[in-house]
Amino acid sequence: MASPRTLSLLVRDLQGANEQLLIRSVLDQESAESAEEGRAQLNALVEAMSEGIAIADPSGRLLVLNRAACAILGVAEWSLLSTADSSLLDVRGVNGVRLASSERPIMRALRGEKFVDEEFTVVRGDGRTRELLVSGTSISDGDRVSLAVVVFRDVTDMRELERQRDEYLALISHDIRGPLSSILLLSESLKDMAARDGLRADVGDRASRIARNAQKINAMVTDLLETAGAGRGDVTSLGVSVDLASLVAGAVDLLADVARGRVHFEDACEAACVVLAEPGRLDRALGNLLSNALKYSRDPIEIRLDRRDGFAVISVTDHGVGIQSEDLSRVFDRYYRTESGLQMGGGFGLGLYITRLIVEAHGGHTEVESTLGEGSTFRLVLPLKVAQLPPPPSR
Ligand code: ADP
Repeated sequence: MASPRTLSLLVRDLQGANEQLLIRSVLDQESAESAEEGRAQLNALVEAMSEGIAIADPSGRLLVLNRAACAILGVAEWSLLSTADSSLLDVRGVNGVRLASSERPIMRALRGEKFVDEEFTVVRGDGRTRELLVSGTSISDGDRVSLAVVVFRDVTDMRELERQRDEYLALISHDIRGPLSSILLLSESLKDMAARDGLRADVGDRASRIARNAQKINAMVTDLLETAGAGRGDVTSLGVSVDLASLVAGAVDLLADVARGRVHFEDACEAACVVLAEPGRLDRALGNLLSNALKYSRDPIEIRLDRRDGFAVISVTDHGVGIQSEDLSRVFDRYYRTESGLQMGGGFGLGLYITRLIVEAHGGHTEVESTLGEGSTFRLVLPLKVAQLPPPPSR
């Protein structure tokens, strides 16, 4: 039997252990509460966001689909989460073709891909199609992806408005063209009459001015018409082989004498720079850069043709008014005009936008560098045509 002293020691030890347990359980409860509080705050934040958010585990099972996501996708959260399978969504590319599971945003994010504002369409259970801008990323646990996070916005209404605007523009441009060609024809014939019949000199001069202004309106209307179609269609599969040195030389050749005298072209490609292109559209893109350089500068203009890592680069450099740095990232946007552009009464701010769409449809991109008051360099960067391998020798 234990002595009273041993018993009292045992009781003291038990009391100590009990206290420790109590303290630990209070601490555990506190940390559980604060974790719960953190989770609740995060949930509230995710729920309050106007963008749709989908979070999936490595198997593609949806763990989170916030309220905005449910509204955009037309699903009740529970119905999707109970089947727990993101592949139930009918996700399509912009061309309307249903995507294979591996090409869907969640699966791509799970592979560790990061993407920003890519366009997809989704066909909802109620049959309605929504156009989405989707960004995706992943969260990793060591070197394993543990969660895919996909954020999306519904841009269906915005795209519909853009389509209506394009249609409206095409309609107005088309209607303006008819009477405009009459004005052009009549002013040209008035000019001829003035010369032939020896009318007062200022009659011919005014007829020329009417014709010039009508041509200016015609160029603007052409810009408006082309914005609707300039970027459509990937031309790399339809294009023909175009030698860029000839294309540039041809564009320079077509300039009026005074303008041509200001332009110097240097072909710095060692071998021919050939791209797959629609020459008419590419010519238009280059023409826009050239006419801007002529419009916004008075000094000589240099065009240079180069190669850079599998791409051909056409640079157009002027030493004119230049562009301030804040405007640089936006000059290729639709309807964007800088202060000097507005003062000099250029066009609608569509020339560079059309140029960018054309170049992107050719699988390339545009670049600009400029210093206010010193001049600008605009570049068209186009993928070089991959050389065709000669057929294997016949045995
Ligand atoms: P626009 O037809 O109105 O000239 P663009 O799309 O061709 O429209 O050009 C957009 C804007 O970029 C213009 O308003 C002009 O201010 C500026 N810009 C374009 N090219 C040049 C240049 N070479 N030098 C200075 N500013 C330029």
